[in-house]
Amino acid sequence: MTYEKSCGAIVYRRHHGNIELLLIKHVNSGHWSFPKGHVEPDESESETASREIMEETGIDVILDTSFREIVTYYPKKETRKNVIYFLAKAKNFDFKKQDEEIEEIKWVDMGNVNAVLTYENDKTIAEKAKKMITL
Ligand code: ATP
Repeated sequence: MTYEKSCGAIVYRRHHGNIELLLIKHVNSGHWSFPKGHVEPDESESETASREIMEETGIDVILDTSFREIVTYYPKKETRKNVIYFLAKAKNFDFKKQDEEIEEIKWVDMGNVNAVLTYENDKTIAEKAKKMITL
């Protein structure tokens, strides 16, 4: 078994009285999820999350590391992957897509994210994040 680790965040904004989450569609697999990516050497989890969100979407964030949830899956046979997700508040709203990895980006109303997200484990994390945001 090989092990992979990525870090990212559930990025939100308040817009016209609603809360929206930032969702991305991956180029190759076509699944909808949250921005994230692999940890570089000597990088902390929060540094990875902020860097990957900026690289993939052009959004600058304020991270809330008191929210730290792990999604685990097997991207390929014999590979177990952990993705650490923090919560993050967007400082700017206009995204700029990284074309190599990302097919589409959209802000989705909190009530509709489960209909867009591809994987159940991501939907579970989204539910936890929603509770934190609306506290
Ligand atoms: P990273 O953004 O960490 O560099 P990546 O772009 O290499 O990752 P992943 O997003 O991990 O790739 O996707 C690799 C494979 O795992 C794809 O086939 C994808 O459909 C699948 N996958 C992605 N997220 C999940 C998930 N939450 N649960 C199950 N399978 C997933």
